Amino acid sequence: MYDALTGRFTFACPSRGEARVALSAFRELERLPGAVHPAVYRVLFACACGEEHEGLVSHDDLDWAPLGLQGGVFFNFMTSKLDDLAVELNDNAVRKLQAGEWPWSFFCFPEDRPRPTFPSSFFLLAPGDGSLGIAVRCPACQRTSVNLVSHEHVDVPWHNDPEVGVVEHLFADDLERTLEAFREELYSATFDARRIDL
Ligand SMILES: [Zn+2]
Ligand SMILES: [Zn+2]
Repeated sequence: MYDALTGRFTFACPSRGEARVALSAFRELERLPGAVHPAVYRVLFACACGEEHEGLVSHDDLDWAPLGLQGGVFFNFMTSKLDDLAVELNDNAVRKLQAGEWPWSFFCFPEDRPRPTFPSSFFLLAPGDGSLGIAVRCPACQRTSVNLVSHEHVDVPWHNDPEVGVVEHLFADDLERTLEAFREELYSATFDARRIDL
């Protein structure tokens, strides 16, 4: 599903057979009810054929495969600590996490602070003028923020934009209304620049 060499996810394309896309080509992510070990996400992605298709991706592939870690690691967002199991792993990615270097981050508007996150917390992505609008459900406070970031910020683990755009808007909890507000805000250019030093 995820190829660490190319940083791409493989899905089926009805016209080309196969599609290989970066995380920034995702448009919607939704955790499916039921499956828990591992959790499974329904993904809508922009395909090179010009259409958007649905695909499925496991939680491990989404959050851990890009770091070269396949499961076995649990990150506690409330304490910003890795669990004991991860401490045993003498892995470069784990060492970076332990040193407080986050593979992904965003600016939580309701909390007015940057937060570490993982791709499974991104639930809407929309390309803009060379940048990418992302709606993120904060792993710590569960509320939604919309940031404007570079493609690399999403596609390349540990590449964090020094500054991101932040929409100064408190988003509703339900997806339908968030989607609407997201599109409105994204193209209204009411972004405020915030530093993302963690
Ligand atoms: Zn396609
Ligand atoms: Zn938050």
